[in-house]
Amino acid sequence: MLSTGGAATGSAATARSRATTRTVVARRGQTVAQVLAAAGVERRELEPAVSALASLLPPRATLPAGHELTLRQAANDDALLALTLQPQPGRTVTVTRTPSGWIAHEETAGQRRHLVLARGTIREDLLDDLRAAGLPDPLARELVQGLAHELDFQRELRPGDSFTILFERFRDPGGDLLREGRMLHAGFDLASRNLSLWRYDTEAGPDWFDDQGRSLRRAFLRTPLDGARVTSRFGMRSHPVLGYTRQHQGIDFAAPSGTPVLAAADGEVTQIGSMSGYGRVITLQHPEDRTTRYAHLSAFAPGLKVGDRVRQGELIGKVGRSGMATGNHLHFEIAEAGRQIDPSRARTRPAAVLEGEALAAFQATRQGLTVQVAHLQPMQEVAAAD
Ligand SMILES: [Zn+2]
Repeated sequence: MLSTGGAATGSAATARSRATTRTVVARRGQTVAQVLAAAGVERRELEPAVSALASLLPPRATLPAGHELTLRQAANDDALLALTLQPQPGRTVTVTRTPSGWIAHEETAGQRRHLVLARGTIREDLLDDLRAAGLPDPLARELVQGLAHELDFQRELRPGDSFTILFERFRDPGGDLLREGRMLHAGFDLASRNLSLWRYDTEAGPDWFDDQGRSLRRAFLRTPLDGARVTSRFGMRSHPVLGYTRQHQGIDFAAPSGTPVLAAADGEVTQIGSMSGYGRVITLQHPEDRTTRYAHLSAFAPGLKVGDRVRQGELIGKVGRSGMATGNHLHFEIAEAGRQIDPSRARTRPAAVLEGEALAAFQATRQGLTVQVAHLQPMQEVAAAD
């Protein structure tokens, strides 16, 4: 028998399935797509991989300098077969090409989920107080933003009011912190009312619900912009420009020029343009014969016109001081059947209400968390099931 020696060479099919693995390193500020392009991966190859990754890592997220990505490529034509990276310590994200398209996969090796309780009292500033109680900064910010449309910080929060927040924290088996998780519960014990909120994942995405399973999101936003301060309420007042007393038909929110103004509810643009007194103003028509009006704007959302449909929270314009205004502010009105009402008292339905099986599942989750809230000491951690 003759021996040809050396390694056997495979058939053409095996050659195609053979892959090489290499590591590429991100430069500062690069996205995954940019790292791949810099590594010579063609656009039509990298695009499906990056879109498959989007569910686990935002496509616009930039990577830290030196971050390593592992690429698997076909040996014969360099076609991209798989991509792996670690967005957080202990968390590995992989996208793989399959005959039916790209699939994304996430692995969190050896991580332990803990529940942590933060408890504190209101002193001066909600954000500072939440951080002082031990709530991680990103979660504190998320909570303040989420509550902005539900709680009137100036009128309802009083020094001495207390709060309780339950959140997740992930540690490795040795106890080292891997990353902070999500908030699961926020409770506020206020002079005027108690607010008990639970974070729950629905088919439409994560949302906050009250004890009865009603979404915190409202069919109407009472404050159609973020981070604003109420400077003039609804009712009789001395007009700052005209000097005499008359009914103030809306609410004024002071905010820097250019602050985004958001549609308070789903609706249709029925008026956009300049009107004496109001300056640049937009009027929206909503269900149940309601309209909202946003005045003194510095600009309109580009291309927005009469007849356009807008969604709640969509940017429609920017704060300014056009028309009869002494400073930058949003003048906001709500009318019902053509009659202006006090926006701070407008009845506003939850955007969603859990029912049936979804409600039963929510209540089971809520009861489990209620037990943890009742038994945990502040900043004590307890290991939890996934
Ligand atoms: Zn006003």
